[in-house]
This record gives sequence, C-alpha cells and structure tokens, in this order.
Amino acid sequence: MVDSNRLDLCFFKYKEDYNAKIQQVLNSGRYILGEEVRMFEKEFANYIGVKYCIGVGCGYDSLYIAMKLLGLKKGDEVIVQANAYIADIMAITNNGLTPIFVDIDMNFCIDINKIKDKITNRTKALLLVYLYGNMPNMDSVNEICNEYGLFLIEDCAQAHGATFKGKKAGAFGRVACFSFYPTKNLGAFGDAGAILTDDENINKKARMFRNYGSDKKYINEMVGVNSRMDEIQAGLLRVKLAHLDELNLERSIIAQRYYSGIKNESLLLPFISSDVSCVWHQFVIRCEKRIDLMRYLDKHKIGYDIHYPVPVYLSKAYSYLDVKEGVFPINDNISNEILSLPLYIGMNTDVQNEVIDILNAYNGEI
Ligand SMILES: *Cc1c(COP(=O)(O)O)cnc(C)c1O
Repeated sequence: MVDSNRLDLCFFKYKEDYNAKIQQVLNSGRYILGEEVRMFEKEFANYIGVKYCIGVGCGYDSLYIAMKLLGLKKGDEVIVQANAYIADIMAITNNGLTPIFVDIDMNFCIDINKIKDKITNRTKALLLVYLYGNMPNMDSVNEICNEYGLFLIEDCAQAHGATFKGKKAGAFGRVACFSFYPTKNLGAFGDAGAILTDDENINKKARMFRNYGSDKKYINEMVGVNSRMDEIQAGLLRVKLAHLDELNLERSIIAQRYYSGIKNESLLLPFISSDVSCVWHQFVIRCEKRIDLMRYLDKHKIGYDIHYPVPVYLSKAYSYLDVKEGVFPINDNISNEILSLPLYIGMNTDVQNEVIDILNAYNGEI
C-alpha cells in the first residue's frame, strides 16, 4: 500500500525543532502578530527577493486581500487560466470582479497565445496560477502585462521556491499570494498565507486590512477583515523555511526517479521548460483512459489524487457564469486525463519503486 501523501514524515524530519518552537511561543505569552510573525515576514520576503511580506490567515485571504488593494472597480475583468483553483475564482468574484478564463497549454500553464484575444477595456489584471510548482514563460507574460497595463497577480500557493530564469515565483507581479496550507511545499500546521509585494502602499494597507483596518490598537483607518497570522504557525514556518531548498531538492529527486523509472506508452509524463526550476508540488501524469487507470491503482492500493477533477467554470457554484463544456477544450480534455502520483517528503525509494513497477505493469486492463 502506498499513500498519496504523508505529512507526518515531513514533521518527523525536524520534530525537535518544531517542538522547541511551540514551547518557545507558548512561553512567550504572545500568540498573534508578534515577533515570530514579524521575523517570518522578513525572512520570507528575503527568500523570495521582494521588499514586503504580510502574513495573513490563509491562501484564499492573500488572494482576496491582494485583489482588494489593487483599487479595481466592480465589473473589472481579471484574466485567469481555465485550470485555476476554486480559491482564485472566489477571490475574484467576492471582490465584485469578473473572471475571464483562458485555455491552458500542454504544460498545464495558461496558453500565452490566447491571452490577447480576451483583453478588453475592462481588463485590469492577469492572475497566474503556478500549478504543481511549474511556471509559464514569464518573459512573454511581462510583455503582455506591460503592453496592456495589466496588474500581474501571482498565485504561488504551489510554487514556493520555483524559479523562471533564476528569478523566484512571487518576485514578478505587483502582488504575489502564498498559501501555507499543510500540504504545500512550505506548509504550516494549520491555516496560514502571505501577500508579497514591492509596493509600499499595498504593504501598508494590507497590514491594516488583515487586522480590521487597524495599524494602531483601536484606531481603524479602513474597513478590513480579521485575517491575522498566529505566532505558532509563523514560528513553525520559520523552522521549515530554513530547510525549504533541501525539501524542494528532495521533491525534485523523487520527480527525476519517476522520469527515469516510468516506461509505459499509455502514460504521458509532465513537460517542464528548461527556463523553469519546478518545485514539484505535484507530479501530474496524463492517461487517456484515466477511469481505468484509477480502478487499477485502487486495486493495487496505490494512492493518487486529481488536481482538479472539475474545472471551476463547470462547478455548481459558478453555473451562473454560464460557461459550457467545450469552450476551453484543452482544459476540459486535460482535466479528464490528469492524475497526481504520490510525491511527498520522506517517500523512500522502495515505496516509490512499488508505484513505478505497478505503473509499468499497467496494460490498460484493470
Ligand atoms: C492551496 C491553494 C490556494 C488556497 O490556499 P488556502 O490556504 O487553502 O486558502 C490557492 N491557490 C492554489 C493554487 C492552491 O493550491
């Protein structure tokens, strides 16, 4: 039996440090927005290579708040890839903005060639989602954003540490949004997220917005929300951040083993551009008859997951957008073929070889 994920193994790796940090925070008497949050913000901004990091309650909040602070107006359009995660679209629509979907390419990235056709005079922003730890051609993205004056918003929830031509995901946009949900490459032990930016004004406002619009106790300068990062999560994230590069390296070694081990014509392995250093949040293969493959893996007790089985625009929540199946044919098709293989910190070679052997023995029969 192979699990699709094992978060406990990642905890065990630095167990002593985590336990010591929890004790330190509990003893400090300060549990929300204190020294650990301040230090994490500083260290993470430094790691990504931007000026400011604002810790918030979760990844969704980072998207919602970042979009709120760009000063967009109701009905403004945000271009977003067809395979975006539900949080991306809810952050757009809960801000009164309109998502404009663009189909994806064979690398699971937004199809750069299809962006310009979707730009109108209401288009104000482009939201990129670095799914699975991969990134699109950022030179082309920058060109389009500059030409049309679009804000670039980066959803880096799956791409902590990924780079394009050596520059980190999160350092390209006006704002970048991170989630530290436990399964992410930089995962906390509860909910947490962050906004990154070089924009001093956004930094100032985000700090207030996350705390009821207040920078000084009981002085409320704007209407905000409660989306504060807590000291325990920040402290634990600092422990993990110090090891993030080695954790990402471990993921890439596992990915390379899949590349060299899987030899089966019915399975398509992911393609990553040589300009990108992918951080392998997921290793996503494609199989035309995925239903059969899933039943085969179930039978052999190999865990897997699907990110994501239903495109957001086909979900009940967004039936009002009235996007029919077939409007984004590449994504419709790919969403029926993708399957994420087990890839987690602490996955040993024997366990991975079991997955590889079972995949290689797959001949289309259940
Ligand atoms: C996890 C994730 C989010 C949302 O983060 P939460 O912390 O769960 O709110 C947003 N976008 C992507 C691509 C994600 O993977």
